[in-house]
Amino acid sequence: MDDINFNDFKISKDIKKAISDMGFEEPSPIQKLAIPEALEGNDIIGQAQTGTGKTVAFGIPVLEKIFVKDKSPQAIILCPTRELCIQVAGEIGKLGNYIKNLKVLPVYGGQPIGRQIRVLNKGVHIIIGTPGRVLDHIERKTLDLTGIETVVLDEADEMLDMGFREDIEKILRHTPKGRQTLLFSATIPKPIKKITKAYQKNPKHLKIAKQEMIVPEIEQFYFQAREKMKLEALTRILDIYDINLALIFCNTKRRVDRLVRDLKSRGYSADGIHGDMKQNQRDKVMNKFRNDKIEILVATDVAARGIDVPDVEVVFNYDVPNNSEYYVHRIGRTGRAGKTGYAFTFVAGREINNLRDIQRYTKAKIKEKKIPSYKDIDKIKTNLILDNIKESVEHDNLTKENAIIESLMDEEYDSLDIASALLKIVKKSNN
Ligand code: ADP
Ligand code: MG
Repeated sequence: MDDINFNDFKISKDIKKAISDMGFEEPSPIQKLAIPEALEGNDIIGQAQTGTGKTVAFGIPVLEKIFVKDKSPQAIILCPTRELCIQVAGEIGKLGNYIKNLKVLPVYGGQPIGRQIRVLNKGVHIIIGTPGRVLDHIERKTLDLTGIETVVLDEADEMLDMGFREDIEKILRHTPKGRQTLLFSATIPKPIKKITKAYQKNPKHLKIAKQEMIVPEIEQFYFQAREKMKLEALTRILDIYDINLALIFCNTKRRVDRLVRDLKSRGYSADGIHGDMKQNQRDKVMNKFRNDKIEILVATDVAARGIDVPDVEVVFNYDVPNNSEYYVHRIGRTGRAGKTGYAFTFVAGREINNLRDIQRYTKAKIKEKKIPSYKDIDKIKTNLILDNIKESVEHDNLTKENAIIESLMDEEYDSLDIASALLKIVKKSNN
Protein backbone atom coordinates (compact mmCIF):
# COMPACT_ATOMS: atom_id res chain seq x y z
CA MET A 1 0.00 0.00 0.00
CA ASP A 2 2.79 2.37 0.93
CA ASP A 3 4.62 2.11 -2.34
CA ILE A 4 1.66 3.09 -4.52
CA ASN A 5 2.75 5.72 -6.97
CA PHE A 6 0.74 8.07 -9.18
CA ASN A 7 2.02 6.02 -12.12
CA ASP A 8 0.27 2.94 -10.75
CA PHE A 9 -3.14 4.52 -11.26
CA LYS A 10 -4.89 3.85 -14.53
CA ILE A 11 -4.90 7.47 -15.56
CA SER A 12 -4.01 9.33 -18.73
CA LYS A 13 -0.55 10.65 -19.53
CA ASP A 14 -1.90 14.21 -19.58
CA ILE A 15 -2.88 13.99 -15.95
CA LYS A 16 0.36 12.28 -14.92
CA LYS A 17 2.27 15.10 -16.54
CA ALA A 18 0.19 17.69 -14.71
CA ILE A 19 0.74 15.93 -11.38
CA SER A 20 4.45 15.98 -11.90
CA ASP A 21 4.26 19.72 -12.75
CA MET A 22 2.41 20.23 -9.48
CA GLY A 23 5.34 18.69 -7.65
CA PHE A 24 3.46 15.81 -6.05
CA GLU A 25 5.73 12.87 -5.45
CA GLU A 26 3.32 10.32 -4.12
CA PRO A 27 -0.40 10.11 -3.50
CA SER A 28 -1.61 11.03 -0.03
CA PRO A 29 -3.33 8.28 2.01
CA ILE A 30 -6.86 9.33 1.03
CA GLN A 31 -5.78 9.59 -2.61
CA LYS A 32 -4.34 6.07 -2.49
CA LEU A 33 -7.68 4.74 -1.27
CA ALA A 34 -10.12 6.92 -3.18
CA ILE A 35 -8.64 7.25 -6.65
CA PRO A 36 -8.68 3.55 -7.64
CA GLU A 37 -12.18 3.04 -6.19
CA ALA A 38 -13.56 6.08 -7.95
CA LEU A 39 -11.88 5.15 -11.22
CA GLU A 40 -13.74 1.85 -11.03
CA GLY A 41 -16.95 3.84 -11.04
CA ASN A 42 -17.90 3.19 -7.42
CA ASP A 43 -19.61 5.69 -5.16
CA ILE A 44 -17.44 6.64 -2.23
CA ILE A 45 -17.51 8.35 1.12
CA GLY A 46 -14.04 9.79 1.62
CA GLN A 47 -13.34 10.77 5.18
CA ALA A 48 -10.17 12.64 6.00
CA GLN A 49 -9.21 15.86 7.74
CA THR A 50 -8.48 19.19 6.11
CA GLY A 51 -5.24 19.36 4.21
CA THR A 52 -5.07 15.71 3.26
CA GLY A 53 -5.46 16.19 -0.49
CA LYS A 54 -9.14 15.42 -0.98
CA THR A 55 -9.42 17.73 -4.00
CA VAL A 56 -6.99 15.66 -6.06
CA ALA A 57 -8.66 12.49 -4.73
CA PHE A 58 -11.86 13.39 -6.57
CA GLY A 59 -10.33 15.69 -9.20
CA ILE A 60 -8.49 12.90 -10.99
CA PRO A 61 -11.46 10.50 -11.30
CA VAL A 62 -13.72 13.37 -12.36
CA LEU A 63 -11.32 14.46 -15.10
CA GLU A 64 -10.77 10.91 -16.35
CA LYS A 65 -14.45 10.64 -17.23
CA ILE A 66 -14.74 13.90 -19.16
CA PHE A 67 -15.35 13.62 -22.89
CA VAL A 68 -14.14 16.97 -24.14
CA LYS A 69 -15.94 16.85 -27.49
CA ASP A 70 -19.26 16.84 -25.65
CA LYS A 71 -19.56 20.40 -24.45
CA SER A 72 -22.33 19.91 -21.91
CA PRO A 73 -21.74 19.67 -18.16
CA GLN A 74 -20.60 16.16 -17.22
CA ALA A 75 -19.49 16.71 -13.63
CA ILE A 76 -20.69 18.97 -10.87
CA ILE A 77 -18.75 19.64 -7.70
CA LEU A 78 -20.56 21.28 -4.79
CA CYS A 79 -18.51 23.22 -2.24
CA PRO A 80 -19.63 25.21 0.80
CA THR A 81 -18.04 28.58 0.06
CA ARG A 82 -17.02 30.82 -2.75
CA GLU A 83 -13.36 30.64 -1.71
CA LEU A 84 -13.43 26.86 -1.87
CA CYS A 85 -15.10 26.91 -5.29
CA ILE A 86 -12.34 29.11 -6.64
CA GLN A 87 -9.68 27.02 -5.01
CA VAL A 88 -11.07 23.69 -6.22
CA ALA A 89 -11.53 25.13 -9.71
CA GLY A 90 -7.89 26.21 -9.62
CA GLU A 91 -6.67 22.76 -8.59
CA ILE A 92 -8.85 21.00 -11.21
CA GLY A 93 -7.59 23.48 -13.79
CA LYS A 94 -4.00 22.56 -12.93
CA LEU A 95 -4.74 18.83 -13.06
CA GLY A 96 -6.43 19.30 -16.41
CA ASN A 97 -3.77 21.63 -17.77
CA TYR A 98 -2.86 19.29 -20.63
CA ILE A 99 -6.41 18.32 -21.54
CA LYS A 100 -7.07 20.44 -24.59
CA ASN A 101 -10.21 22.60 -24.65
CA LEU A 102 -11.28 21.53 -21.17
CA LYS A 103 -13.66 24.07 -19.65
CA VAL A 104 -14.09 24.37 -15.90
CA LEU A 105 -16.36 27.00 -14.37
CA PRO A 106 -16.79 28.05 -10.76
CA VAL A 107 -20.27 29.44 -10.03
CA TYR A 108 -21.06 31.13 -6.78
CA GLY A 109 -23.26 33.84 -5.36
CA GLY A 110 -22.10 37.41 -5.43
CA GLN A 111 -20.76 37.15 -8.97
CA PRO A 112 -23.02 38.59 -11.69
CA ILE A 113 -25.20 35.72 -12.88
CA GLY A 114 -25.28 37.06 -16.44
CA ARG A 115 -21.61 36.48 -16.87
CA GLN A 116 -21.93 32.91 -15.60
CA ILE A 117 -24.80 32.28 -18.01
CA ARG A 118 -22.78 33.51 -20.97
CA VAL A 119 -19.92 31.15 -20.14
CA LEU A 120 -22.33 28.27 -19.53
CA ASN A 121 -23.88 28.84 -22.94
CA LYS A 122 -20.51 28.48 -24.60
CA GLY A 123 -20.12 25.03 -23.11
CA VAL A 124 -18.58 23.89 -19.84
CA HIS A 125 -17.51 20.38 -18.81
CA ILE A 126 -17.12 20.75 -15.06
CA ILE A 127 -19.16 23.04 -12.81
CA ILE A 128 -17.84 23.86 -9.37
CA GLY A 129 -20.40 25.72 -7.37
CA THR A 130 -22.03 26.61 -4.11
CA PRO A 131 -25.39 24.84 -3.69
CA GLY A 132 -27.37 28.09 -3.61
CA ARG A 133 -26.09 29.45 -6.90
CA VAL A 134 -26.22 26.09 -8.65
CA LEU A 135 -29.85 25.70 -7.70
CA ASP A 136 -30.47 29.23 -8.92
CA HIS A 137 -29.14 28.25 -12.34
CA ILE A 138 -31.20 25.07 -12.36
CA GLU A 139 -34.35 27.03 -11.61
CA ARG A 140 -33.57 29.56 -14.33
CA LYS A 141 -32.91 26.65 -16.66
CA THR A 142 -29.51 28.07 -17.48
CA LEU A 143 -27.79 24.88 -16.34
CA ASP A 144 -28.67 21.53 -17.85
CA LEU A 145 -27.83 18.59 -15.65
CA THR A 146 -29.14 15.80 -17.85
CA GLY A 147 -25.63 14.88 -18.98
CA ILE A 148 -24.10 14.78 -15.50
CA GLU A 149 -22.07 11.62 -14.84
CA THR A 150 -20.30 12.55 -11.63
CA VAL A 151 -21.45 14.56 -8.63
CA VAL A 152 -18.99 15.49 -5.91
CA LEU A 153 -20.07 16.76 -2.51
CA ASP A 154 -16.93 18.38 -1.14
CA GLU A 155 -16.65 19.28 2.55
CA ALA A 156 -20.10 17.79 3.00
CA ASP A 157 -20.21 18.31 6.76
CA GLU A 158 -19.47 21.99 6.29
CA MET A 159 -22.21 22.34 3.66
CA LEU A 160 -24.75 20.82 6.00
CA ASP A 161 -23.60 23.06 8.86
CA MET A 162 -24.26 26.00 6.60
CA GLY A 163 -27.83 24.89 5.99
CA PHE A 164 -27.43 23.65 2.42
CA ARG A 165 -29.05 20.25 2.98
CA GLU A 166 -32.26 20.95 1.07
CA ASP A 167 -30.46 22.66 -1.78
CA ILE A 168 -28.10 19.72 -2.13
CA GLU A 169 -30.92 17.21 -2.20
CA LYS A 170 -32.79 19.24 -4.81
CA ILE A 171 -29.70 19.40 -6.98
CA LEU A 172 -29.07 15.67 -6.63
CA ARG A 173 -32.66 14.97 -7.71
CA HIS A 174 -32.06 16.96 -10.88
CA THR A 175 -29.13 14.75 -11.89
CA PRO A 176 -29.45 11.37 -13.65
CA LYS A 177 -29.97 8.31 -11.46
CA GLY A 178 -27.05 6.52 -13.09
CA ARG A 179 -24.55 9.10 -11.90
CA GLN A 180 -21.51 8.39 -9.74
CA THR A 181 -21.65 10.24 -6.42
CA LEU A 182 -18.47 11.01 -4.49
CA LEU A 183 -18.82 12.50 -1.03
CA PHE A 184 -15.92 13.96 0.93
CA SER A 185 -16.06 15.15 4.48
CA ALA A 186 -13.86 15.48 7.53
CA THR A 187 -16.60 14.06 9.73
CA ILE A 188 -19.59 11.84 9.00
CA PRO A 189 -22.40 12.90 11.33
CA LYS A 190 -25.92 11.41 11.09
CA PRO A 191 -27.37 13.86 8.53
CA ILE A 192 -24.56 12.92 6.15
CA LYS A 193 -25.24 9.24 6.63
CA LYS A 194 -28.85 9.96 5.67
CA ILE A 195 -27.77 11.66 2.48
CA THR A 196 -25.45 8.85 1.53
CA LYS A 197 -28.22 6.29 2.15
CA ALA A 198 -30.67 8.17 -0.02
CA TYR A 199 -28.40 9.27 -2.83
CA GLN A 200 -25.45 6.90 -3.10
CA LYS A 201 -25.24 3.35 -4.41
CA ASN A 202 -23.34 0.95 -2.12
CA PRO A 203 -20.81 3.61 -1.25
CA LYS A 204 -17.40 2.48 -0.05
CA HIS A 205 -16.53 4.21 3.19
CA LEU A 206 -12.84 5.13 3.02
CA LYS A 207 -11.45 6.56 6.19
CA ILE A 208 -8.06 7.91 7.09
CA ALA A 209 -7.29 7.60 10.77
CA LYS A 210 -6.38 10.75 12.62
CA GLN A 211 -2.79 9.90 13.50
CA GLU A 212 -1.84 9.83 9.86
CA MET A 213 -2.94 13.38 9.43
CA ILE A 214 -0.29 15.23 11.34
CA VAL A 215 2.27 16.24 8.82
CA PRO A 216 5.64 15.17 10.14
CA GLU A 217 7.55 17.93 8.37
CA ILE A 218 6.24 20.60 10.70
CA GLU A 219 8.69 21.75 13.34
CA GLN A 220 6.73 22.87 16.34
CA PHE A 221 7.89 25.28 19.01
CA TYR A 222 6.31 27.26 21.78
CA PHE A 223 7.33 30.51 23.41
CA GLN A 224 6.38 31.50 26.92
CA ALA A 225 5.03 35.03 26.45
CA ARG A 226 2.79 36.98 28.76
CA GLU A 227 -0.16 38.66 27.07
CA LYS A 228 1.57 42.04 27.13
CA MET A 229 4.72 40.59 25.55
CA LYS A 230 3.04 38.72 22.70
CA LEU A 231 3.14 41.52 20.14
CA GLU A 232 6.76 42.32 20.87
CA ALA A 233 7.69 38.63 20.73
CA LEU A 234 5.85 38.20 17.44
CA THR A 235 7.56 41.11 15.72
CA ARG A 236 10.98 40.05 16.97
CA ILE A 237 10.45 36.57 15.58
CA LEU A 238 9.14 37.92 12.27
CA ASP A 239 12.24 40.10 11.96
CA ILE A 240 14.85 37.71 13.17
CA TYR A 241 13.77 34.82 10.97
CA ASP A 242 13.05 37.14 8.05
CA ILE A 243 9.62 35.57 7.58
CA ASN A 244 7.89 36.54 4.35
CA LEU A 245 4.61 34.67 4.54
CA ALA A 246 2.93 33.94 7.81
CA LEU A 247 -0.52 32.90 8.94
CA ILE A 248 -1.43 33.95 12.47
CA PHE A 249 -4.34 32.52 14.38
CA CYS A 250 -6.17 34.30 17.19
CA ASN A 251 -9.00 32.85 19.23
CA THR A 252 -11.48 35.69 18.69
CA LYS A 253 -12.53 38.17 16.01
CA ARG A 254 -11.69 41.11 18.23
CA ARG A 255 -8.19 39.85 18.76
CA VAL A 256 -7.76 39.46 15.01
CA ASP A 257 -8.75 43.09 14.42
CA ARG A 258 -6.57 44.32 17.21
CA LEU A 259 -3.48 42.39 16.10
CA VAL A 260 -3.90 43.54 12.50
CA ARG A 261 -4.04 47.14 13.71
CA ASP A 262 -0.97 46.70 15.92
CA LEU A 263 1.05 45.03 13.18
CA LYS A 264 0.12 47.67 10.62
CA SER A 265 1.10 50.45 13.00
CA ARG A 266 4.50 48.80 13.30
CA GLY A 267 4.92 48.80 9.55
CA TYR A 268 4.09 45.20 8.68
CA SER A 269 1.88 44.41 5.72
CA ALA A 270 -0.86 42.51 7.46
CA ASP A 271 -4.56 41.94 7.06
CA GLY A 272 -7.19 39.84 8.76
CA ILE A 273 -10.18 37.62 8.04
CA HIS A 274 -12.96 36.60 10.35
CA GLY A 275 -16.60 35.66 10.28
CA ASP A 276 -17.97 39.18 10.73
CA MET A 277 -16.53 40.36 7.44
CA LYS A 278 -18.56 40.34 4.27
CA GLN A 279 -17.73 37.65 1.75
CA ASN A 280 -16.29 40.09 -0.79
CA GLN A 281 -14.08 41.67 1.88
CA ARG A 282 -12.73 38.24 2.74
CA ASP A 283 -12.12 37.47 -0.93
CA LYS A 284 -10.16 40.66 -1.29
CA VAL A 285 -7.94 39.87 1.64
CA MET A 286 -7.38 36.29 0.50
CA ASN A 287 -6.42 37.46 -2.96
CA LYS A 288 -3.97 39.96 -1.56
CA PHE A 289 -2.40 37.22 0.50
CA ARG A 290 -2.21 34.75 -2.39
CA ASN A 291 -0.68 37.37 -4.66
CA ASP A 292 1.95 38.38 -2.12
CA LYS A 293 0.43 41.83 -1.61
CA ILE A 294 0.35 41.17 2.12
CA GLU A 295 2.82 39.09 4.08
CA ILE A 296 0.83 38.34 7.16
CA LEU A 297 -2.69 37.00 7.35
CA VAL A 298 -4.39 37.03 10.74
CA ALA A 299 -7.41 34.76 11.05
CA THR A 300 -9.89 33.06 13.31
CA ASP A 301 -10.32 29.30 13.07
CA VAL A 302 -13.75 29.52 11.53
CA ALA A 303 -12.80 32.01 8.83
CA ALA A 304 -9.76 29.98 7.87
CA ARG A 305 -11.46 26.63 7.72
CA GLY A 306 -11.21 25.00 4.34
CA ILE A 307 -9.10 27.77 2.88
CA ASP A 308 -5.99 26.56 1.19
CA VAL A 309 -3.08 28.92 1.43
CA PRO A 310 -0.06 27.39 -0.21
CA ASP A 311 3.51 27.96 0.88
CA VAL A 312 3.01 29.50 4.28
CA GLU A 313 6.39 29.46 5.96
CA VAL A 314 5.11 29.70 9.48
CA VAL A 315 1.85 29.32 11.30
CA PHE A 316 1.65 31.28 14.54
CA ASN A 317 -0.78 30.49 17.28
CA TYR A 318 -1.00 33.92 18.84
CA ASP A 319 -3.33 32.26 21.32
CA VAL A 320 -3.28 28.60 22.23
CA PRO A 321 -6.37 27.17 20.51
CA ASN A 322 -9.21 26.03 22.73
CA ASN A 323 -9.26 22.53 21.36
CA SER A 324 -6.65 20.19 20.03
CA GLU A 325 -8.30 19.65 16.68
CA TYR A 326 -8.03 23.36 15.96
CA TYR A 327 -4.32 23.09 16.60
CA VAL A 328 -3.99 20.32 14.04
CA HIS A 329 -6.05 22.25 11.51
CA ARG A 330 -4.07 25.41 12.07
CA ILE A 331 -0.60 24.01 11.75
CA GLY A 332 -1.66 21.91 8.76
CA ARG A 333 -1.43 25.14 6.76
CA THR A 334 2.33 24.92 6.63
CA GLY A 335 4.72 22.17 5.60
CA ARG A 336 2.77 21.36 2.48
CA ALA A 337 4.04 19.45 -0.53
CA GLY A 338 7.07 18.09 1.25
CA LYS A 339 8.48 21.40 2.44
CA THR A 340 9.42 21.93 6.07
CA GLY A 341 6.95 24.14 7.86
CA TYR A 342 7.14 25.80 11.24
CA ALA A 343 4.49 26.25 13.88
CA PHE A 344 5.11 28.75 16.66
CA THR A 345 2.72 28.90 19.59
CA PHE A 346 2.62 31.67 22.19
CA VAL A 347 1.75 30.44 25.62
CA ALA A 348 0.66 32.86 28.34
CA GLY A 349 0.33 31.70 31.93
CA ARG A 350 -2.20 28.93 32.31
CA GLU A 351 -2.46 28.34 28.57
CA ILE A 352 0.38 25.93 29.22
CA ASN A 353 -2.24 23.41 30.40
CA ASN A 354 -4.03 23.59 27.05
CA LEU A 355 -0.73 23.10 25.30
CA ARG A 356 -0.07 19.97 27.34
CA ASP A 357 -3.47 18.61 26.27
CA ILE A 358 -2.60 19.33 22.68
CA GLN A 359 0.71 17.60 23.07
CA ARG A 360 -0.99 14.54 24.48
CA TYR A 361 -3.64 14.49 21.75
CA THR A 362 -1.32 14.98 18.82
CA LYS A 363 1.66 13.10 20.24
CA ALA A 364 3.64 15.94 18.74
CA LYS A 365 6.94 17.21 20.03
CA ILE A 366 6.42 20.88 20.74
CA LYS A 367 9.74 22.24 21.98
CA GLU A 368 10.22 25.36 24.05
CA LYS A 369 12.16 28.20 22.48
CA LYS A 370 13.25 31.48 24.03
CA ILE A 371 11.99 34.75 22.65
CA PRO A 372 14.91 36.38 20.86
CA SER A 373 16.53 39.23 22.80
CA TYR A 374 17.39 42.67 21.39
CA LYS A 375 20.99 41.56 21.20
CA ASP A 376 20.15 38.50 19.09
CA ILE A 377 18.17 40.68 16.74
CA ASP A 378 20.94 43.20 16.37
CA LYS A 379 23.43 40.47 15.52
CA ILE A 380 21.19 38.87 12.95
CA LYS A 381 20.26 42.19 11.34
CA THR A 382 23.92 43.17 11.05
CA ASN A 383 24.70 39.84 9.42
CA LEU A 384 21.94 40.40 6.89
CA ILE A 385 23.40 43.79 5.98
CA LEU A 386 26.89 42.34 5.68
CA ASP A 387 25.58 39.64 3.36
CA ASN A 388 24.00 42.32 1.20
CA ILE A 389 27.25 44.27 1.08
CA LYS A 390 29.26 41.23 0.03
CA GLU A 391 26.72 40.43 -2.63
CA SER A 392 26.82 43.98 -3.95
CA VAL A 393 30.63 44.17 -4.01
CA GLU A 394 30.72 40.95 -5.99
CA HIS A 395 27.92 41.57 -8.44
CA ASP A 396 27.07 45.27 -8.80
CA ASN A 397 28.72 47.82 -11.00
CA LEU A 398 30.04 50.33 -8.44
CA THR A 399 31.99 52.72 -10.69
CA LYS A 400 29.81 55.69 -9.85
CA GLU A 401 29.83 54.98 -6.13
CA ASN A 402 33.60 54.44 -6.18
CA ALA A 403 34.09 57.91 -7.61
CA ILE A 404 31.95 59.48 -4.89
CA ILE A 405 33.78 57.66 -2.08
CA GLU A 406 37.13 58.58 -3.63
CA SER A 407 36.18 62.23 -3.51
CA LEU A 408 35.54 61.79 0.23
CA MET A 409 38.92 60.14 0.64
CA ASP A 410 40.49 63.08 -1.13
CA GLU A 411 39.11 65.12 1.77
CA GLU A 412 41.33 62.97 4.06
CA TYR A 413 38.56 60.67 5.32
CA ASP A 414 39.68 57.11 6.00
CA SER A 415 37.99 54.37 3.92
CA LEU A 416 37.38 52.17 6.98
CA ASP A 417 35.66 55.03 8.79
CA ILE A 418 33.52 55.76 5.77
CA ALA A 419 32.39 52.14 5.54
CA SER A 420 31.65 51.95 9.27
CA ALA A 421 29.63 55.13 9.13
CA LEU A 422 27.61 53.75 6.23
CA LEU A 423 26.87 50.57 8.20
CA LYS A 424 25.67 52.64 11.13
CA ILE A 425 23.42 54.74 8.90
CA VAL A 426 21.92 51.69 7.21
CA LYS A 427 21.21 50.03 10.57
CA LYS A 428 19.58 53.20 11.87
CA SER A 429 17.37 53.56 8.84
CA ASN A 430 16.32 49.90 9.13
CA ASN A 431 15.02 50.39 12.64
P1 ADP B 1 -8.32 18.94 1.69
O1 ADP B 1 -9.40 19.18 0.68
O2 ADP B 1 -8.24 17.52 2.16
O3 ADP B 1 -8.39 19.91 2.83
P2 ADP B 1 -6.57 19.90 -0.37
O4 ADP B 1 -7.12 19.11 -1.48
O5 ADP B 1 -6.97 21.32 -0.29
O6 ADP B 1 -6.91 19.20 1.02
O7 ADP B 1 -4.99 19.73 -0.41
C1 ADP B 1 -4.16 20.37 0.52
C2 ADP B 1 -2.83 20.74 -0.12
O8 ADP B 1 -2.06 19.59 -0.41
C3 ADP B 1 -2.96 21.49 -1.44
O9 ADP B 1 -2.03 22.55 -1.44
C4 ADP B 1 -2.60 20.46 -2.48
O10 ADP B 1 -2.09 21.05 -3.65
C5 ADP B 1 -1.59 19.61 -1.75
N1 ADP B 1 -1.54 18.22 -2.21
C6 ADP B 1 -2.56 17.44 -2.65
N2 ADP B 1 -2.13 16.21 -2.96
C7 ADP B 1 -0.81 16.17 -2.73
C8 ADP B 1 0.21 15.16 -2.85
N3 ADP B 1 -0.09 13.94 -3.30
N4 ADP B 1 1.46 15.50 -2.52
C9 ADP B 1 1.77 16.73 -2.06
N5 ADP B 1 0.87 17.74 -1.91
C10 ADP B 1 -0.42 17.46 -2.24
MG1 MG C 1 -11.01 20.30 0.52
